[in-house]
Amino acid sequence: MKTGTGSGVMTAIASDRLELGAGHEVARATATRCWRHLREADGIEWLILDQTDASTNRIEPIMLEELDQLLAEVETNRPKGLVIRSAKRNGFVAGADIAQFRGVRDAAELTAVLRRGHAVFDRLAALRVPTVAVVHGFCLGGGLELALACRRRIAVPNASLGFPEIQLGLHPGLGGTARLTRLIDPLDAMTMMLTGRPKNARAALRAGLVDTVVDERHVMAAVRAALSGAVKPRGWRWRPTLLNLSPVRRFAGPRMRAEANKRARPDHYPAPEALIRLWEKHGGRFAAMKAAELPSFAALLVGDTAQNLVRIFFLRQAMSKTDKRPAVAHVHVIGAGAMGGDIAAWCAYRGFRVTLADTSLKALGGAMKRAGDLFRHHYRDRHDRAKLRDAFDRLIPDPRGLGVERADLIIEAVPENLDLKRKIFAAIEPRMKPAALLATNTSSIKIEDLCNGLARPDRLVGIHFFNPVARMPLVEVVSHKQATPENLSAARAFVAALDRVPAAVKSAPGFLVNRTLMPYLLEALLAFDEGAAAETIDHAAETFGMPMGPIELADYVGLDICLDVANVLAQNLTDPLPKTPDWLAAKVKRGELGRKTGKGIYDYNKDGKPQKRVGQKAPEPELTDRLILPLINACVACLREGVVTSEDIVDGALVFGAGFAPFRGGPLRYARMRGIADVTAALDRLAALYGERFKPDPGWQTLEA
Ligand code: NAD
Repeated sequence: MKTGTGSGVMTAIASDRLELGAGHEVARATATRCWRHLREADGIEWLILDQTDASTNRIEPIMLEELDQLLAEVETNRPKGLVIRSAKRNGFVAGADIAQFRGVRDAAELTAVLRRGHAVFDRLAALRVPTVAVVHGFCLGGGLELALACRRRIAVPNASLGFPEIQLGLHPGLGGTARLTRLIDPLDAMTMMLTGRPKNARAALRAGLVDTVVDERHVMAAVRAALSGAVKPRGWRWRPTLLNLSPVRRFAGPRMRAEANKRARPDHYPAPEALIRLWEKHGGRFAAMKAAELPSFAALLVGDTAQNLVRIFFLRQAMSKTDKRPAVAHVHVIGAGAMGGDIAAWCAYRGFRVTLADTSLKALGGAMKRAGDLFRHHYRDRHDRAKLRDAFDRLIPDPRGLGVERADLIIEAVPENLDLKRKIFAAIEPRMKPAALLATNTSSIKIEDLCNGLARPDRLVGIHFFNPVARMPLVEVVSHKQATPENLSAARAFVAALDRVPAAVKSAPGFLVNRTLMPYLLEALLAFDEGAAAETIDHAAETFGMPMGPIELADYVGLDICLDVANVLAQNLTDPLPKTPDWLAAKVKRGELGRKTGKGIYDYNKDGKPQKRVGQKAPEPELTDRLILPLINACVACLREGVVTSEDIVDGALVFGAGFAPFRGGPLRYARMRGIADVTAALDRLAALYGERFKPDPGWQTLEA
């Protein structure tokens, strides 16, 4: 451990001062790899978390071991008080280092590691000196568990406190389930953990999760007040005790379960059920709940669901990683329809200056209204008024298309018509800045065909968003022979700056996602044509883990769009696709386009929900295979043809772009876990029953190697 004295240690986070502040003399300072231990002359000690070589603090074994040693020193020193805070600008602690969860399969070993973590936080909680955590920015997962082990919590206004573990198929594992349900209303605590939604500082104060919220400049005074006992815990102190009583648990538990089951099936996502069971059984008995949390967390983490979700977490990171910042400040969008309008709004929301052009003023008006709804949805809090105003300021309706000359990136989203798109490109290309990029949102037109007629085809890329733009994380970044690597990587960087996940794909019919989804959707339509109930088909896919069945999805996307994509793929692919039923074109002709017209294969309620008959039977495994395996077979074909370069991109793209059951880790991960031989044998069986279209793609052979 390095030692030193003096006051040259950054603790005042929001300012650039490097001292504890005027009148706060540091008598002694020591440093470990993760912590700085300061002793003020007046007897208050600080543990400042500042993990080396990391921009963000995370809970990891070395950090806990060092904390344990430092707490031993504090026990000996018996200072007037102990303060824990972070030196990182972005927050307190962003949670556990998730990399350590990868590939963990030994529950007993994991339980032993967790037990050591529990012991460190217990030691902190048992200190016989007053303890305070000062939190700013992220205070998530293990970071919140650390703060909860202190006696008082002070938050600065930008703090965000929560337990997001459920998103990785887990619940808190370092005593958080017991500490949170003991501190605040346990029903609120359970909602926090079951939804993973964080609380901002004000909401945390209302809930009693923090004891006070102060601006950064008042932190020193608040620390002194908290250590002297002047800051009292918030809220009704009897409430947690009362609401943890067994009759309440017996009453509330089943309701929580019903709510959780509506969101996700417990056989697919076991964490909510595990958490509810923990509380039902042990709520209100702190030691018992903490002890039971250990094996429960370990069992979840070694399970397939958590391991697959952890993998998806890293896939998202890897796909979004870019080595450059987008050189784009101004985006010009042409076409303010379903896609262009929403793309423009999302770009403006994410901080880009946007001009939005359309030949129809009505379309522009509609797009501006939808943009307003999006901004207001994201900036609901009255503290966000300035951000709301800025987002509106950034989005400029531009009926005359004057933004073309100023834009760094132009995104074309006019109807799917080659001649129209070419005409627009011919008109704008001479007016574009020399370094500007040109992008098309086309779903099915070959990028090469759009290159014809361009003076600079190298700067055209496909940037293919999915509908609805604000909810679908994936964007396909489409390359073609004439695109330069620089322009492609600039497009990927732009997509990442939009907080969307870029998937690099090669120009090919349907790219990756539509190409692989179409066999699944068409197979469902064929099964429906043969007499299977729409509800039975959807139920089979939902039981597999798809967020929405294929019939409902076809209605949701629009039967007109499905028909177009099916026709384009049928004309351009050699893959044998299921025959598109004749009634599909007839339905489209009648204007029965799906959810958007209130009638498609299902009829729709006013709230946009399909009217489904209840009482679907347990799905036949053969029906599930009949739907899912053609999708996976097409993924293998895309890999073989080089439409995508890796299994990881296939899995990430299908999870983020088509909602493919995340807990299964993506289509190819599913195939590998089920066994490639088993999948190809099932495809052969289906081929014998239904036809050649099920024949395993030759790519499976290379996959097996
Ligand atoms: P849309 O019909 O809803 O909107 C197209 C808009 O372009 C209309 O508002 C129209 O007025 C406008 N427009 C027509 N000619 C124009 C011109 N010369 N100059 C400026 N504006 C003009 O279509 P959409 O569904 O938004 O699709 C747009 C593109 O996005 C298509 O290439 C489509 O393949 C692709 N796409 C659509 C979806 C989807 O689900 N709708 C998903 C991904 C990609």
